[in-house]
Amino acid sequence: MPETQKCPICSAEVQFSERYPKYVCSTCSERATDENNRPLKFYNTTMLGGGFAAQYMDTNEKRESHICYIDGVKCWADEARFGGIVIQTYGKENK
Ligand SMILES: [Zn+2]
Repeated sequence: MPETQKCPICSAEVQFSERYPKYVCSTCSERATDENNRPLKFYNTTMLGGGFAAQYMDTNEKRESHICYIDGVKCWADEARFGGIVIQTYGKENK
């Protein structure tokens, strides 16, 4: 099994993940915006690191969507299997 894979946005080497083959690196994740270029942040909604919520950074307004954009690439943010948030480029394997 490979030890690393590449971030689909910037091609940086990231830790290999069988479950998330197209997850974006933490640097790119920080640039997530909505379709109008408004910065977004994602967080877990439970103490145990589960659940998913999206929020606008400028107004703290909730966003009811998993879709985000990084450098113009459509992505899907969700709670990670073992806690935290994972963002992957959007494709047919997403829900
Ligand atoms: Zn990246």
